[in-house]
Amino acid sequence: MSPAGEGDLARALYLHVPFCVRRCRYCDFATCAVSCDDPLVGAYEAALSRTAERLASAGLLSGVRTAYVGGGTPSIATAPLAGLVGAVGRLCPRLGELTCEANPDSLSPEASRILASSGVGRVSLGVQSLADPELRRLGRVHDASRARAAARGVVDAGMRLSCDLMCAIPLQTPESLALSIDGVLECGAGHVSVYPLTVEDGTPLARACEAGEEAYPDDDFEADLMELAARTLQSHGLARYEVASYALPGQRCAHNEAYWTGVPYLGVGTSAASMLTPGGYGMLREALPLLEVRAEDETLSHDETDVARVRLTMVDPPRDFVRAVDSGGRLRVEVETLTTREAVAEDMMLSLRMTEGMPPELVGRGRSCGMGAALDRAIERATGDGLAERASDGSIVPTRRGWLLGNELYGLFWGLAHD
Ligand code: SF4
Repeated sequence: MSPAGEGDLARALYLHVPFCVRRCRYCDFATCAVSCDDPLVGAYEAALSRTAERLASAGLLSGVRTAYVGGGTPSIATAPLAGLVGAVGRLCPRLGELTCEANPDSLSPEASRILASSGVGRVSLGVQSLADPELRRLGRVHDASRARAAARGVVDAGMRLSCDLMCAIPLQTPESLALSIDGVLECGAGHVSVYPLTVEDGTPLARACEAGEEAYPDDDFEADLMELAARTLQSHGLARYEVASYALPGQRCAHNEAYWTGVPYLGVGTSAASMLTPGGYGMLREALPLLEVRAEDETLSHDETDVARVRLTMVDPPRDFVRAVDSGGRLRVEVETLTTREAVAEDMMLSLRMTEGMPPELVGRGRSCGMGAALDRAIERATGDGLAERASDGSIVPTRRGWLLGNELYGLFWGLAHD
């Protein structure tokens, strides 16, 4: 293995806070319900800070440009969160963007002021809707007036505001979605993400759908709402730059762009994922005591002679994570390796989430790792089916149809991962 260098360093850092005051009806994320004064929250976030300190001492945070504290609900308790983001700011000398995810029920204007003074520059607020009946059907803790107050508090504290909205919520209409969009823009959002509601197995929402008490979202209605969201946001000057993301000029989320452009990133905490070069993974193993658990992803080839990329996920539940960090014990990580060809296919798939699409340079990388005729066929199929088109600079970019049928488009290129 060649010695690790600048290109092996993570450019983005993710810290996961897996707590919420209550589980929403549709949620299948790795999060658990705790009260906001549960001592586990403070102990866990202190363990995240200590882990970040170890990474920084080993030089692993010196390339980090963006950091994101996500969840769960990081805003569930302000004091430990302020301590954590303060530590991140101190430990990442090249940090340009620090985002914190928050939910309206726990983000008071006072909490926003504290986060802003601790170094947070951007808040991603889980609004989902500004219609109370829709919020109740989702099982959200907050109501619309709470969401507006939290959103205004973020802007008043001088931070950039991003709001998440959902479409195809039970009871939602085109008019109510338009009102939710107008509402978050009035509060000062410069970035909006719009996701369709998905019914995940094992959730209360899925059980209600199976029992016929709730209707499954209708695909055509969902597509109409996604298009309506795109038109409305674009008419207010927020340009689409990713399948679900819209931003005013200068307000794109640089952290998420790192995920979609194949740069190395580090994730710390329960179920946080990292993507590293083999050299970067070697540095991580020297910095932290890790216990490797082999992941069971049958789609990957596990060719030990050609490892271009290492993906790992921390799998300890919160109490085990705290115990391991406190005692200097080993953190359990699930590890997958990707060959050069798998890494290129992954980059192609992710590039097609973005308006810039797949640049000619990435197509060239595909040719040099043996995709050849299969790559030509995938491009022909994507353009022939109207999912993508060729831009004037030779890039392959998604069309309106491609945005709506994303899985079909991404599948064509992930399918190139193997012969
Ligand atoms: S706030 Fe988010 S992470 Fe927490 S339960 Fe609801 S959907 Fe899940």
